[in-house]
Amino acid sequence: MAEQPAFDVPELKPYPVIPKLVEDTMAHSQPFVAKSDFQEPLGFPGERVDDWQDVAIKKMGELTDRYRSLQVFLDSCVKCGACTDKCHYYLGTTDPKNMPVARQDLFRKVYRRYYTFAGKYMPWLVDAEDLTEEVLDDWYKYFHQCSQCRRCSVYCPYGIDTAEISMAAREVMDSIGKGQKYCNEIIGKVHTIGNNLGLPEPALLDTLEGLEEEVEEDTGVAVKFPLDQKGADILLVTPSADFFAEPHVDGLIGYAKVLHEAGLSWTLSSHASEAANFGMFIGSYENMRKVALRIREAALDLGVKRIVFGECGHAWRVAYSFLNTLAGPFDFLDPRYPVPQHICEVTHGLIQEGRLRLDKSQNDGMVLTYHDSCNVARASRMGDIPGGQFEIPRAIIRASCNHFYDMPADTVREATYCCGGGGGLLTDDLIELRVKGALPRMEALQQVVEDHGVTHMAAICAICKSQFAKVLTYYGFQMDQIVSVHQLVSNAIILTGSEQEKEAELSEAA
Ligand code: SF4
Ligand code: SF4
Repeated sequence: MAEQPAFDVPELKPYPVIPKLVEDTMAHSQPFVAKSDFQEPLGFPGERVDDWQDVAIKKMGELTDRYRSLQVFLDSCVKCGACTDKCHYYLGTTDPKNMPVARQDLFRKVYRRYYTFAGKYMPWLVDAEDLTEEVLDDWYKYFHQCSQCRRCSVYCPYGIDTAEISMAAREVMDSIGKGQKYCNEIIGKVHTIGNNLGLPEPALLDTLEGLEEEVEEDTGVAVKFPLDQKGADILLVTPSADFFAEPHVDGLIGYAKVLHEAGLSWTLSSHASEAANFGMFIGSYENMRKVALRIREAALDLGVKRIVFGECGHAWRVAYSFLNTLAGPFDFLDPRYPVPQHICEVTHGLIQEGRLRLDKSQNDGMVLTYHDSCNVARASRMGDIPGGQFEIPRAIIRASCNHFYDMPADTVREATYCCGGGGGLLTDDLIELRVKGALPRMEALQQVVEDHGVTHMAAICAICKSQFAKVLTYYGFQMDQIVSVHQLVSNAIILTGSEQEKEAELSEAA
């Protein structure tokens, strides 16, 4: 059970209900501000600079010059209102400033004031606003109530992407010394140690050896979890949560079993022991690049031929959309494989080639649904067919389980709801926001529980898994109702030489 919260947990209603506006319900919510120890190593001022308004306005101009899309987004909103009820944070909190258009306007009004003719000379006519202390305060609060999930952009007739505006606002705030502790502390750990958790190489090695023992004890097969193995074909880059958190680690066991059974040579890297790239959440190209370069360095050092990413939503968004720009060219890798590849693409390909044997009945204790991670759904693809990012994970689940039901159509695929913890908000100082932001997903889950007896929800995102493991309990579910997609594969896979293979052969013979 969740501890008694200090806030009201929204009631699950028959989906969908658009709530009435209640002003300022989340005006008290903001994450801890980063101290200088976390700001300076990232190249930001340690604390708010004296001339912060001038610095912020200059930065805003730099960003609108550098990213033409940002300027187009700021100039083109016609206030049609189509996005207003599309954000999970608005639906969960009822705060009108969590409507996407209102969130954008926090930034847009200031942009207009300093970068448009009308805003400079007739601000009252065009709703332009000075960058004041109060405005900055609202920026800090409400740009940390956006998980950069892009759901609103799907419904905007102009495709205005609030996520990009939110990233720009955070970048401006970092530039004046007002960064967010959670994100910036994590990025610093990746720069110095290689992963979000600050897990040093000996601890990582110890963890992987422990997993080898566990899998061998369980299956009778010596599945390896190699680390820093030079000359391996595949570098697997996975979120560090996969090394110990539940249900993430069950997914890592699944990847290892798949790669073992297919006879593929692979390794993890202690230098690039993190797939996540929080540089994207704070809109910092420089920090995102620095994190991405560790992967390139590891690939070169180990002499691998392919790079495969584990189950992590935003890591895949960064990898799929930006890895080649940030850290390419990857012309030293085997050109027969895409750079990068997702572990779901690898597993799906092996299933299609008939190289994996899966006993679906091993998952008969579960009735599954699937949560599309927003970053995978709306900011990337998989495979070589449109919509592969939706079909490939579902095909893996169907190949591994007998019982699968999708949640309502307007809550999955490109319309999926964020888990409520993405975009650098997966921190306990934002627990109220996280719980309330999860409401639309919880309502959709409740519907398939009632209609089909769904017992578990699978996901391919480390943040979604951590978020759901925490917030499910606030809505009367159990924390272990969230599972990794590769956990299902891990349960079903028949490893050559395993106890399960012997049992299968005996039952066939009988
Ligand atoms: S990007 Fe997602 S979290 Fe941000 S305003 Fe749009 S729907 Fe809300
Ligand atoms: S849907 Fe697009 S154009 Fe309409 S109000 Fe929202 S951001 Fe503006």
